[in-house]
Amino acid sequence: MSIEIKDHNKLFKEEEYLKQFEEKKVYEAACSEEEVQKVLEWTKTKEYMEKNFSRQAVTINPAKACQPLGAIYAALGFENTLPFVHGSQGCVAYFRSYFSRHFKEPVAAVSSSMTEDAAVYGGLSNMLEGLENAYAIYKPKMFAVSTTCMAEVIGDDLNAYIRASKDKNKIPQELLVPYAHTPSFVGSHIVGYDNMLKSILSLVKNKNQISETINIIPGFETYPANIREIKRIIKVMGIGSIILADTSDSFDSPLTGEYKIYTGGTRLEDLFNAIHSKVTISLMKYASIKTIEFIKKEWVQEAFSLPYPVGVRNTDLLIQTLSKISGKPIPQEFEEERGRLLDAMIDSQSYLHNKKVALVGDPDLVLGLINFCLELGMKPKHILCTNGDKDFEADAETLLTSSEFGKECNIFTGKDMWHLRSAMFNDPCDLILGPSQAKFLVRDTGTPLVRVGFPIFDRHHLHRFPIIGYYGTLNLLTYIVNTILDELDKNSISGPNFDLIR
Ligand code: SF4
Repeated sequence: MSIEIKDHNKLFKEEEYLKQFEEKKVYEAACSEEEVQKVLEWTKTKEYMEKNFSRQAVTINPAKACQPLGAIYAALGFENTLPFVHGSQGCVAYFRSYFSRHFKEPVAAVSSSMTEDAAVYGGLSNMLEGLENAYAIYKPKMFAVSTTCMAEVIGDDLNAYIRASKDKNKIPQELLVPYAHTPSFVGSHIVGYDNMLKSILSLVKNKNQISETINIIPGFETYPANIREIKRIIKVMGIGSIILADTSDSFDSPLTGEYKIYTGGTRLEDLFNAIHSKVTISLMKYASIKTIEFIKKEWVQEAFSLPYPVGVRNTDLLIQTLSKISGKPIPQEFEEERGRLLDAMIDSQSYLHNKKVALVGDPDLVLGLINFCLELGMKPKHILCTNGDKDFEADAETLLTSSEFGKECNIFTGKDMWHLRSAMFNDPCDLILGPSQAKFLVRDTGTPLVRVGFPIFDRHHLHRFPIIGYYGTLNLLTYIVNTILDELDKNSISGPNFDLIR
């Protein structure tokens, strides 16, 4: 017997539902349609924009997530590691669903399930019981403990609680339990990532040799295919490397018919060898500020960040740096990939030149996108980086002023997508590059969106294709130019310019 399950897109257009919606409006004494339209139009004006930009107390659709979400992400980049969040269960359900919606994968993370009594008396017993149960059931080799706002507000001491868990034999003495305080009322997911990664690396001590290996920190990199692309580049160059932290298989594992709670991740053996590497390179400066400082100081190792390797210049810089540090020549293969990317950029040039773009996302990604847009002759017009700071603004400014195409651009840090909406009504763009939440800007302003970054909830599999390196940048170029061509088709569908050849 087959059951017909109606799609909600059709279901809610049926008479029965339309009637209910009308009755609901009457019951709620809703404004008239004319009034709604009048206010909606007003929200598009300069007058409203000024009020919107003086807003202090409310945030609407920010382009950032919580600190512990980033901490969980860093933790899942290590072998057999279970993220343990000390705090409310609801927060952790949100983090897991956020990842599952983006990666379309199950995500393992547990919580100490603090409730009202823990808020009054402290969360020690939740922590003791939580670690004991989670260890008994899931047998991790490492717990990575972070906190939600609740634990931070009452000031729970993770160090003391973890020590107590070991002293009371709830978990083995020798079990690895790095921890990071991750209050979400400051910072964002990239700060949580940085805090947790630094904490995990702090487990590593006793430097007694120097190897030729290069450590790579991908950062809060939500494209497993990007990490695979980095590994491919390094392999082709014949360089020994350790990825800290490798989330590629944890968030993109093959379907084998058998569920494994732990898949992939940097091997713990490699983690402990990373201290001996000759250098550490981060591909996301803003997601690894504390970690890079830690490596320089505590591991006494050269450590620095490169710009996110999207676009020609940034990829050149990565490959030249790898070549210089390792002493290996740049393979012919990369010169050909680079040439193919340049060829494709020129092929699409006439559709991209002078197009105005709004960019939304994390600092490192956005800086990479600015660079690539300028290389394409596109004009960044509005940049929204909710979790950007003064340093980000200075970096963005330097990039923008280096090109004719970056001269008239607004940089918004600490702002949200409702601010960007106002800006886009008053100074429109041809295209948005950003995460799925920017689709509300598509609806409101009619500007097409190229989905890039995190999270991407409403399109499938984009994270399975790289957007960095020459090869990945070619993918990004393809998404950008084809979105513009789709828009051209849409706008010319009933006229003589509905061309077969673009
Ligand atoms: S902001 Fe705080 S309370 Fe809210 S989901 Fe994030 S960690 Fe939980």
